[in-house]
Amino acid sequence: MVMIREYIQENKQEYLAKLLELCRLPVYVGGPEENVAKCVDWIVHELQETGFSVKVHPTGHRPVIYAEKKGSGDKTILFYNHYDVVPVNRADWESDPFEPCLREGRLYGRGTSDHKSSFLARLFAVKCLDKLGEHPVTVKFLLEGDEEANSPDLYGFVNAHRELLRANGCLYPGWRRNEKGMPRINCGSRGNFIVHLICRTADKDLHELNAALVPNALTRVMQAVASLFDADQNVMIKGFYDAVRRSPALEKAAAGIPFDAESFRAMTGCRRLAGGIGPDQAMLRSTLTPVVSCYAVESSSVARDVLPCEATAHLRFYIVPDQDAETLLQALRDHLRENGFSDCEVIADQDRIRPSYTDIEDPFVKAVEESARETYGVQPLVVPISSGTGPKYVFTELLGVPTVSDAGVGDSLSNDHAANESIVVENYYQNIEHIARIMRIMAKQ
Ligand SMILES: [Zn+2]
Repeated sequence: MVMIREYIQENKQEYLAKLLELCRLPVYVGGPEENVAKCVDWIVHELQETGFSVKVHPTGHRPVIYAEKKGSGDKTILFYNHYDVVPVNRADWESDPFEPCLREGRLYGRGTSDHKSSFLARLFAVKCLDKLGEHPVTVKFLLEGDEEANSPDLYGFVNAHRELLRANGCLYPGWRRNEKGMPRINCGSRGNFIVHLICRTADKDLHELNAALVPNALTRVMQAVASLFDADQNVMIKGFYDAVRRSPALEKAAAGIPFDAESFRAMTGCRRLAGGIGPDQAMLRSTLTPVVSCYAVESSSVARDVLPCEATAHLRFYIVPDQDAETLLQALRDHLRENGFSDCEVIADQDRIRPSYTDIEDPFVKAVEESARETYGVQPLVVPISSGTGPKYVFTELLGVPTVSDAGVGDSLSNDHAANESIVVENYYQNIEHIARIMRIMAKQ
């Protein structure tokens, strides 16, 4: 009997050729508009060739592609992928970003890592099992073309198609290996939202001589920001940590993720960890703990001798399950009022990403974990809540389906969104095996 791994070995040429074809059809903001239809047609064709029934749904932006193929078992897997990429600055690339090129085992090109290889690995995993005479689970694909533009249609589409998208597990685009090459599986993800603190102390900028009588707006806003933190940058807003989901299992999983303090320091130059913690607490803090970051402060004047009448601080809240933006915004307003900063107005952006939670003990997570162990021959890292953010909550909230990023194709040198994006080609072939095994294991559960 031909095994999954052998079958993949024999078909590497085809997998690589198809990835090259897809990377030559870039869809991005400011890119050739005719590429959208060409890329969608290409994907539809490949899905149909693999036996999927496909429907292209027009949206307010780029179309959503939905495809489905029935399996023999009662389990269903939903693959979420995107076919758009981020624009490039050609001057920074060593080779043509849209003409993928192989150098020393790495394939360079826009979309190789984020996320065309992930989509194709899934498609070829289905095809591989097909050829081996296996149809273990029903497979559904949902592909959008606006992921890099914050997925404006995803929530609406999923909300309108809850029945259609029902599944036992959703695979989010695969993640990257860590610096040591360890495969990682991401379960939940953090959410985030942006808040602006605005303080106005006079009708116009005044000569600095007035500073004795007119409060300095910049000083006021900096004081307001400072009041939100203790000296270790823990958040002092009353009730800020109340809704944070913690459990012994979650803490054990987070604490089990290795943190290399030496290489972190070498990479970042960071001298002292925030939160007043030691390296043993680093992963607990970076996965399960919400943070607030002040990323800029502006004032109405930067001129010498001028007293600015208005100043704004820009803050981003990184939140975790089960925190909620509205509750935190109210707590922030209460904090400012109670601490004498009623003159600081709070304006929050509407563009918000909610945190997403998937139980690390869920059978679907276990299937992904077991498959990674079989494929890569090591115990993968299971990250309960990743430090990154994204629209994973659309699937966990609207569909109530466990949603996980598989071990993925990329690695720590993949340069997603930057120049010379690349993958190790072998990781792409391995990902095909990983996905095929997930489907097999699911069917047996
Ligand atoms: Zn991206």
